[in-house]
Amino acid sequence: MQDEEAGPGPGTDEDPREAPSGAVGAKAGVAPGLWLVATPIGNLGDLSPRAVVTLRAAEMILCEDTRVTAPLLARNGISAPLAALHDHNEAQEVPRLLARLQGGARLALVSDAGTPLVSDPGYRLARAAMEAGVFVSAVPGPNAAVMALTLSGLPPQPFLFMGFLPPKAGARAEAISRLRAAEGAGLSATLIFFEAPHRLAECLAALAEGFGDRPAAVARELTKRFEEVRRASLPELAAHYAAHAARGEIVVVVGPAAVDAPSGAEEMEAQLRAALAAGESLRDAAAMVAAATGMPRRQVYARALEMGREEG
Ligand code: SAM
Repeated sequence: MQDEEAGPGPGTDEDPREAPSGAVGAKAGVAPGLWLVATPIGNLGDLSPRAVVTLRAAEMILCEDTRVTAPLLARNGISAPLAALHDHNEAQEVPRLLARLQGGARLALVSDAGTPLVSDPGYRLARAAMEAGVFVSAVPGPNAAVMALTLSGLPPQPFLFMGFLPPKAGARAEAISRLRAAEGAGLSATLIFFEAPHRLAECLAALAEGFGDRPAAVARELTKRFEEVRRASLPELAAHYAAHAARGEIVVVVGPAAVDAPSGAEEMEAQLRAALAAGESLRDAAAMVAAATGMPRRQVYARALEMGREEG
């Protein structure tokens, strides 16, 4: 959510209403097509001059909730008409919007906050426009996941953005164990999750259960008056937020699986090599190694086949 009350966070010295000279009101430089325009995640000073120019040039601005976007536009002297595009109507709206785009319209798409499409509506429309050969471009800007990553103190790459974990405990535990399995197969990436404040404590407890004593960070209210980044181990963060209910908007960042120990994938390959060298068939070697490592038999068998091909 955008925060009208945002304090003087970073970047507010400049008046976001000022577009580069000569650009105000000009449609020149803003090609017809679909423009995916990032908007602030809290601090209204983070709307870029190019976002203002692009939104001013649009014949129509598609947004999730007109009540959220209208004040931002008014504040920046943008008067293009607004139309709602959200998860409940996007599928049915795509054909009509695509026809407009194919007819040469210049449309902008924003979400309530941050970068559209990222855990927000717009993917279906953008994809349909691309497939139809319509010009699609973006005005980049704020994104809570990347900002949290940069402030987490955890390795910035590779990272894996997971969006929201499932809200129900069982499905969430399953999603976490799938990630653990991927790590067992060699994935070593910083993990980024969005979470709602009322689920933060249980989410952190589930992450601590799945990933153990890993370094992590909870980034809260980014770019707003009460911005906070708490860096600690997953069990410490789980204990903290069990005792102190969190408020506001939240991103959880979890450090990568340790890389110094041989990865699950390396371990699996070493065991496969040993079993094949001992004269086991591919099928038997895969079954034995799957049983020993706990990895899915299909995955081990596929790797055994690849190794056979690689070794000629
Ligand atoms: N598309 C947006 C973006 O690019 O950041 C994300 C939209 S998603 C529906 C909303 C979630 O993003 C929130 O529930 C929270 O997890 C995270 N988020 C958005 N703004 C945030 C902020 N200012 N501080 C921390 N997390 C934020």
